[in-house]
Amino acid sequence: MKLQTELQTELQTDIAIIGAGPQALTITTHLLQKGGRRSPQLVVLDPSGTWMQRWHQQFAAQDIAYLRSPVAHHPDPNPYALRAFAESRHRELFPPYDRPSRQLFQDFCHALIQRWNLQDRVMAAEVVQIEPIRQQRYRFRLWLKDGRGLLARRVVLAGGDGALNVPEWARSLQETHQGAYPTDRLSHSDQVDLGQLQLQGDRVLVIGGGLTSGHLALGAMHRGANVKLMARRQFQVKLFDADPGWVGPKYLKGFNAEASWQRRWQMIQDARNGGSFTPDVMLKLRRAQRDKSIELIEQCQVVQVRWCSDCWQVDCTDGEHFECDRIWYATGRKLDAAQCPLLKEIQAQYPAKLVHGLPILDSHLRWPGCELFVMGGLAALQVGPVARNLRGATIASDRIVEALMKPTIALSRAVA
Ligand SMILES: Cc1cc2nc3c(=O)[nH]c(=O)nc-3n(C[C@H](O)[C@H](O)[C@H](O)COP(=O)(O)OP(=O)(O)OC[C@H]3O[C@@H](n4cnc5c(N)ncnc54)[C@H](O)[C@@H]3O)c2cc1C
Repeated sequence: MKLQTELQTELQTDIAIIGAGPQALTITTHLLQKGGRRSPQLVVLDPSGTWMQRWHQQFAAQDIAYLRSPVAHHPDPNPYALRAFAESRHRELFPPYDRPSRQLFQDFCHALIQRWNLQDRVMAAEVVQIEPIRQQRYRFRLWLKDGRGLLARRVVLAGGDGALNVPEWARSLQETHQGAYPTDRLSHSDQVDLGQLQLQGDRVLVIGGGLTSGHLALGAMHRGANVKLMARRQFQVKLFDADPGWVGPKYLKGFNAEASWQRRWQMIQDARNGGSFTPDVMLKLRRAQRDKSIELIEQCQVVQVRWCSDCWQVDCTDGEHFECDRIWYATGRKLDAAQCPLLKEIQAQYPAKLVHGLPILDSHLRWPGCELFVMGGLAALQVGPVARNLRGATIASDRIVEALMKPTIALSRAVA
């Protein structure tokens, strides 16, 4: 009886969506579109209290002018919606494939949020723990950072792509030499905000071979810095993260037919094949190299870094030594369900097999044995190499919404 009373005073919802980025926005619009008047009750949780905060912040911080993906990829269920929205703004669609400008995409998402009346749907809250509970109506209690609990029947995890990937030498510096150097002189790319920095005359080392490293190198150059851009292999040039065949049946058919999860994982690695620059960014980098504004260093890695009174001393695998004022490592994020704090109790109570950190989900992207659905890079064994991208959000939403719109079937299976 006491438990019953406690449960009644807690916040409650049918569906809780963790995160308010592009993945969450995509599933929300798909759910409302499919559900119409029968749409389930849902709560979206994000510390920012607003939609797409991290996306907008990253695009501004890295000075990105337009998206890498084409005009058909966006959070609206209608694939032509962004093209229609851009009708009077053609100059903001960049060839090839009409890639939308940052501002166009931002305005489009804003209009989408208004149209679906989603402005007030995001609750400003960080989920710190997902506790599976065995209660008749609710299957989860989400613990929020402010100490409150939220009961939910179903949960969609759309919280982005894991912890920052930190190179070993940087990790050991951060752990053992904390305080010995100014912390803003050694940063992961996600912590760099070009607009906030005075870089005139600074020597900046950017590490990585992905598009982010290219954007940061060019952005620093435009602000008057002397830039070195270093990659451990040769620079790769690709228009998209993965071949366009991966956004539809051309390759996904074979991927979905593959019974071995290990082979699926290998297909994802082969398709993405590490980081790459788009042809236009590579062209700008080569021009900057010719003008001696950026030095491009391929097949080289940092061996050791020391802070010597006012700058970094860097030793590299090619035997070179040099000094610089700032180091930015654009080394991405680590996708590993075993390292995701929110999945700790889920994994303990409903153990899922992991393949190199990726969980084996069912075809609706449901965690085995419970009503927790996973979006983004962690769903790649089902969604394929574009899982973390905008197109992946649409593929994931189609699969998850199908399950969410059958509450009785889903719930009775979970209760059984
Ligand atoms: C600079 C950049 C450019 C990109 N450009 C493209 C592109 O052009 N085309 C493309 O298809 N893809 C692109 N991507 C890849 C991908 O589409 C984006 O990373 C996209 O933001 C992923 O969406 P998301 O919702 O998973 O993650 P995010 O945008 O990271 O959103 C996740 C949200 O979850 C919230 N959150 C996290 N943990 C919790 C918690 N415990 N409780 C509550 N909320 C939480 C975060 O605050 C955040 O707001 C780009 C990525 C980057 C970094």
